Amino acid sequence: MKIVLFDIDGTLLLSDGAGRRAMERALVETFGVMGPKSYRYGGKTDRLIVREKMRIEGFADDAIDAAVDATVQAYLRNLRAEIDRDPQALRSLPGVFELLSAVEAHEGMLLGLLTGNVIEGADLKLRAVHIEPERFRVGAFGSDHEERPMLPPIARERASRLLGRVVAGDQLVIIGDTEHDMTCGLGVGARAIGVATGGVARTTLESHAPVAVFDDFTDTPRVLEAILDA
Ligand SMILES: [Mg+2]
Repeated sequence: MKIVLFDIDGTLLLSDGAGRRAMERALVETFGVMGPKSYRYGGKTDRLIVREKMRIEGFADDAIDAAVDATVQAYLRNLRAEIDRDPQALRSLPGVFELLSAVEAHEGMLLGLLTGNVIEGADLKLRAVHIEPERFRVGAFGSDHEERPMLPPIARERASRLLGRVVAGDQLVIIGDTEHDMTCGLGVGARAIGVATGGVARTTLESHAPVAVFDDFTDTPRVLEAILDA
């Protein structure tokens, strides 16, 4: 059984900056500053984004800890407003619907998520592109831990509980668009598959030795084969 864990942003969908704008506004509301424009969000958990940006602005960790929950709540409110204002701002990436259905239907695979989004944000983004969050039978989220490498052990634990047997680390297949997706599962021996739809170059993803890298998900049989061989 392969536990197939998809990242969301840049992997299943693009949000055309809606997530970023929602976070920047939340940071201004809570801390008075939004952090550097050049900051890269890709592969980071929501809470780590708050911490790293506010550290750059000179805030101490205890001040960040005290305000991070309020910032995430403001972010969710802003994200909801962004989606309401322009429901087309978020769009699913090519081949995603076919791939999710194929993984879901495969008896040797369990469909899941592994994302830096807090769970409420993941739900909002997925629903905005008409992917039902309930389809993912196991998941680890940015609301579970601030550090992405802590998420694969959580996903493994949840998959084990769901299946009623111990899931080995190398049964996890982590699929994402950044170097952070490629490396976060190394500690548990998870496999990684890259997809170059999120702006990170194919060569960057390949440099972390994933089992495969795809330009996009349009060739469903080839992606399924890579998951099975992972
Ligand atoms: Mg991503």
